[in-house]
Amino acid sequence: MTEKLKLAFYWAASCGGCEVAILDIDEKVLDVVAIADIVFWPVAIDIKYNDVRAMDDKSIDVTFFNGSIRTEENAELARLLRAKSKTLVAFGSCSCYGGVIGLGNLSSKEELLHRAYITSDSTDNPEQIKPQLHYKEVHIPDVLPANYALDQVVDVDYYLPGCPPKDTLVWSAIEAIASGNLPAKGAVLAPNLTVCHDCPREKHDERTIKEFKRVYNFQPDETKCLLEQGLICMGPATRSGCDASCVSVNMPCRGCMGPTDQVFDQGAKMISVLGGLIDSDDPEEVKEIVSTIVDPVGTLYYFGVSKSLIKQSGVKRR
Ligand code: SF4
Ligand code: SF4
Ligand code: SF4
Repeated sequence: MTEKLKLAFYWAASCGGCEVAILDIDEKVLDVVAIADIVFWPVAIDIKYNDVRAMDDKSIDVTFFNGSIRTEENAELARLLRAKSKTLVAFGSCSCYGGVIGLGNLSSKEELLHRAYITSDSTDNPEQIKPQLHYKEVHIPDVLPANYALDQVVDVDYYLPGCPPKDTLVWSAIEAIASGNLPAKGAVLAPNLTVCHDCPREKHDERTIKEFKRVYNFQPDETKCLLEQGLICMGPATRSGCDASCVSVNMPCRGCMGPTDQVFDQGAKMISVLGGLIDSDDPEEVKEIVSTIVDPVGTLYYFGVSKSLIKQSGVKRR
């Protein structure tokens, strides 16, 4: 009998959605168990970090690593699992691009802690106690100065993006791993096309935008391109593979699949696209129209601040 693959799953700074995405493959999870032993999966099985430390280097065939690197513990486990794994897959947008958590890079670590523990409306902390790194013999992992994508900390073999990755992509990746039919190192395990390519809406490539709108106060036409109706849809700058999930239910794409290979910076690409759709040649009017974009960074870099041009220069490899 062929030896079973050894798989590991880990979550770093993660919402847990990527863990659920693994179970989204439904009954196929039984096929996974038939070909692989899961040797580390903190959310599902009781295995300690010391058990991983005791493993031989490169003894895990593939680790699927979700979540970004925001704490010392995240970084330590990234290095440990890199050493123990033959193949390391960045799983989900947080791991691939820093994810939503990367928006925290717009504030300092101190500002974030102050907001979370002192001024947040949901915090009841009259004594204004902040986390202590040492309590008796316990050391609490510190928060890092910034949020990092996995490949800003360790070498990554493959990327499986999405927030979370779609079940069909997860299963294709597992099949490719099981058959040994993987692309060249560094590949993104999703099509190199844009969401627009999969979107059935009518597009005219005409300058139509007089103001930018938001989903809560605008009911778009269900047959026409959302972007041309003034909703910022990241489809032109975003990799496909999700079957245009959001646009097919009348919601603009937020960009979770990250950029295609041709797009260097997702937000910059969208700025270029928007420039071609704003319906004015008058600089003052253009300024007025652009000012209707609420939260430009949060909109254009929802999943990718950590690896974007705007933050890359300040984020050192750890
Ligand atoms: S990629 Fe999305 S689902 Fe996965 S951990 Fe990040 S926020 Fe959660
Ligand atoms: S911009 Fe959005 S709505 Fe328009 S074609 Fe692309 S994916 Fe579809
Ligand atoms: S449409 Fe955009 S935001 Fe929605 S799942 Fe696809 S890539 Fe992600």
